Parts: sequence; structure tokens; C-alpha cells
Amino acid sequence: MPHTSEHMRILVTGANGQIGSELVEALRQRHGPEQVVGLDLNPPPTANGPSAAAPFEVMDVRDREALAGVLDRHEIGTIYHLASLLSATGEQHPDRAWDVNMSGLKNVLDLARRRPVDTVFWPSSIAVFGPTTPRDDTPQNTVLDPTTMYGVTKRSGELLCRYYHRRYDLDVRSLRYPGLLSYKTAPGGGTTDYAIDMLTQAAAGEDYTCFLEPDTRLPMMYMPDAIQGTLALMDADADALSVRDSYNAGALSFAPAELAAAIRARVPTFDCHYEPDERQRIAENWPSSVDDTAARTDWDWAPEYDLDALTEDMLHHLRENVR
Ligand code: NAD
Repeated sequence: MPHTSEHMRILVTGANGQIGSELVEALRQRHGPEQVVGLDLNPPPTANGPSAAAPFEVMDVRDREALAGVLDRHEIGTIYHLASLLSATGEQHPDRAWDVNMSGLKNVLDLARRRPVDTVFWPSSIAVFGPTTPRDDTPQNTVLDPTTMYGVTKRSGELLCRYYHRRYDLDVRSLRYPGLLSYKTAPGGGTTDYAIDMLTQAAAGEDYTCFLEPDTRLPMMYMPDAIQGTLALMDADADALSVRDSYNAGALSFAPAELAAAIRARVPTFDCHYEPDERQRIAENWPSSVDDTAARTDWDWAPEYDLDALTEDMLHHLRENVR
């Protein structure tokens, strides 16, 4: 277990995002709303219930001085650093992607090693892989030749995390998330967003035009598994962790046509059309599935949802949202 003393708080950067919003909720349920500080560029969308009065900081993670003030003021002991530009947005704004993703991470790591922060979580991505990486069952240690600026920042970030662990003994932990599916918050400009869009359209009784080819298989994960996996990695004994750049974590793997078929089994009128755009090129350089033996062995990674369970659950909740 990370040994953050009881009074130290948890900081989540990128707290308004697709993952951040759900991770903050899960952490507040575990530790109490006042123990978890959210941070993002904008205030949170109207918070209800116990989170309404919970601490939140509006700032840019590139502002090192302001970030230092937040760590001191709230007595932060654990940081989940999620603030980032994603793959598709990063290709539109490569300079900004480098700046936000690298300066943000460097600020977090530098401040963490000087202050009483004992654990940092930072997510990497399947975008670290590239065209010469084996595509099926991609190994933990393999060729890493990202083609997008996003992937370049993720691989660079992995190496930086491992360096800070080796050089400064900072307990940084990381997962290579695949495409994440959730129904609570809209996705933030990733290449796997099509899956959420397709399910959302189907739940509203509409057809869908997909921006990837029908047979482009990619690794995916349902948000409850991503949250559970993130917390399990952070709960693990530090000595059990053999990977300090970033763990492969597989869950399920499907192509747009397979998702469309799973939807059609539940919504017979649903139809999917295909008009691939520039995101197809990004997807073609990513794995179709990853080998996550290290995560399963070191900290018992065990996702629950398969394609049928995910489709069923997503459609159920998205229909509730439509009502
Ligand atoms: P998102 O785009 O939904 O949310 C990112 C949040 O970061 C946004 O709320 C944004 O306002 C905030 N942010 C951006 N720049 C900032 C800055 N300079 N200062 C402060 N806040 C800033 O992203 P997400 O899907 O929640 O992803 C979170 C993390 O997980 C990212 O590091 C991302 O690379 C990684 N990841 C996500 C996926 C996925 O499928 N969603 C897959 C792999 C990795």
C-alpha cells in the first residue's frame, strides 16, 4: 500500500475529463469528498450531493508556481496526473500537445520529489506503439515507435517516470490505457471515441457514420474496469511492481463492425456506415490487442467486462441519459 499519511490529500489533475470525473467520484467515495482535490482549466460542471463543496482548483498544470501552491495549501500526498491533450486533438495542435503533456508531467514529477508526495499516477496510452510494433498481443517490452505527437509525449513521459523512479526513488505508477468507453462524460478527442459515439447514436435510435474502417481492431476498456485497475495499481505493494515505465493493460478488443453487430443484436434497426478520415491512419499504427501478463502477475489486473456486457450496460445507461 502507498503509505500516504492519513491527513494528506489526493490531487487529481484533468478532473473534469472523461476519466478524471469518474476517478474523482470513486476516490471521494473511498476517502471522503474533502480529501480529494480536483484541478482543471475550468470549474467543474455543477456538482451535486457530497461533492458540491469539495475542493477544486482552476489552473493550468503548466504553471509550476501555482501547482506548487496547490500541493502545499492542500497538503497533497498522492497525485493522479491526468491533464493532457489526446491523440486526435494533439495531431491538430502538436506544439500545444508537447507543451501541455510534457511540461505538465515534468512539473508534477519535479514538485512531487521535493514535497511530501509519496505516490504519483500518470496514464500512458497504446499510442506509444507504432507501425513496426507487433500488432497482435503486443508484448510489454517491444518496439515503441509512436507516429503521433500524442504518442511521442506518452513514450517520453514513460521514460521520464521511470527515470524519476530510478534516480529520485519517486513512486510513479503508470498504465497504458487502451480506448476507454464511458457514458457519463463526453470523450475528449481520441481516436477510439467512435465506439462511444456509435453507442450514443444507437441509444438515441439513430444510425451512425464511423470514422474508422469496419475491420480496424483496437484494444478497448470499459470505464469501471479502468477505474478499478487504476485504484488496484495504486493499492499495490511498491516492491511488487516490476514495470516502472508503464504497464500494458488489456481488457477487450474489437473492430467497429463487431461493435455494430453487438449493438444490432439489441437494436435490430441500427445501421452503421463507414467514412474513414485521418484518424484511420492513427488507428492503423496501434495494436489490435496487448499482452498484459506483467499487470496480471504483479498486481492482479483482472478486467470484468467483455463486449456483450459492455454493450448491454452502455446502451442501458445511454438510453437513461436520452430520456
Ligand atoms: P479528457 O480530454 O476527457 O480530459 C482531460 C482534461 O484535462 C480536460 O478536462 C482538460 O480541461 C484538462 N486539461 C487539459 N489541459 C490542461 C492544462 N494545461 N491544465 C489543466 N487541465 C488541463 O481526457 P481523458 O480521456 O479523461 O484522459 C485523461 C488521461 O488519460 C490523459 O492523460 C490521456 O492521455 C489518458 N488516456 C486516455 C484514454 C481515453 O481513451 N480516454 C486512453 C489512453 C490514455
